Amino acid sequence: MEIKIHNIGDNIGPGKILLLRQPQAGLEALVVVDNMACGPAIGGVRMAPDITLDEVCRLSRAMTLKNAAAGLPYGGAKSGIIADPACSREQKEKLVRTFARMIRELTEYIPGPDMGTNEECMAWVKDEIGRAAGLPRVLGGIPLDEIGATGFGVAVSAEAAASEAGISIKGSKFAVQGFGAVGRHAAKFIGKLGAILVAVSDSKGAIQNQDGLDIDALINHKKDGSPVQTFPGGQAMDSDELVGTECDIWIPAARPDVLTENNVDQLKARLVIHGANIPATETAEQLMHKRGILNIPDFIANAGGVICAAVEFNGGTESQVMKTIEEKIRTNTLETLERSKKENLLPREAAVKMSLSRIKEAMTYRGT
Ligand code: NAD
Repeated sequence: MEIKIHNIGDNIGPGKILLLRQPQAGLEALVVVDNMACGPAIGGVRMAPDITLDEVCRLSRAMTLKNAAAGLPYGGAKSGIIADPACSREQKEKLVRTFARMIRELTEYIPGPDMGTNEECMAWVKDEIGRAAGLPRVLGGIPLDEIGATGFGVAVSAEAAASEAGISIKGSKFAVQGFGAVGRHAAKFIGKLGAILVAVSDSKGAIQNQDGLDIDALINHKKDGSPVQTFPGGQAMDSDELVGTECDIWIPAARPDVLTENNVDQLKARLVIHGANIPATETAEQLMHKRGILNIPDFIANAGGVICAAVEFNGGTESQVMKTIEEKIRTNTLETLERSKKENLLPREAAVKMSLSRIKEAMTYRGT
């Protein structure tokens, strides 16, 4: 394996980098514990064949910022098992259990699910070492994708930011890119606030209806895996046209870097809530800021999932999850906007500054 180290190390972290190898089980994995000033580090276990140390370092820093922004008593970490997530269930179990045994002594790291792993994998980890978040319901888990924890937080963020963007959420029009765990729940919860879904896409195509798409019917339509384009209540359009939809709020909830300097000028919305991770390039965020389009960055708006995992890890209930998400994401969205305005910063810069100030304060309470 080639290890590509890029820009690693500042006064925040990483605190620990581990390379795990167990040839008999075919395991190669990386663990990066970025910062533990706020508490033990919580972060997902990704399984993919092409994971690099650079990627795991960046993701672990993102978790440090996200957990601190959400005011959780947890630091940030991430790990990556270098393997094909489509391997057999037996092979996956062997890899995950071996991985878990090798991090048994790393008690400051609490693993959770991420791309390529799920609740079943976390049950294997818990069985091996007694600690994991994102467990099946029967083991005290709160299924975050089923309850729509992240999508709910995205809706809370949209509601909190609307007036600053000059929008009244009731009656506003919104578009969602990606109709998976984050996108469909964001649509459902924003719809409940009285907003009208006018366009939506998935990996196969896009549809629109300026009079409003029936969100519940669309969710039902997608249940058996049907693409949004075959939904009878909308007119098909080219996926690239979604950016230019006539709407007030635009929600990326699919892939990274979908808003770039090449398409961001088409955006008509006044508010962009980052449901997906890093959906806009740095330049695109600057261009939007110049045009007065308000952006709420990913690690503020999409923290619902990790807040859910933290509540679960502390033995909390489903109703506590929604209350905690509501409170934390509303407060953080408003604080980000206030700092951004006061200090004339991009919302992302303001949010990073807010997180770093919390982490640095927490670091002053820790021994070396
Ligand atoms: P998912 O796999 O459940 O859904 C992804 C959706 O995006 C699917 O509908 C898919 O068809 C669609 N899609 C894929 N490529 C697309 C494209 N090019 N154009 C339009 N649609 C496309 O994934 P998810 O859990 O909803 O995650 C979406 C994003 O949110 C990812 O960036 C993920 O890292 C981030 N995120 C997820 C959570 C969570 O709790 N699930 C938490 C934080 C961040």
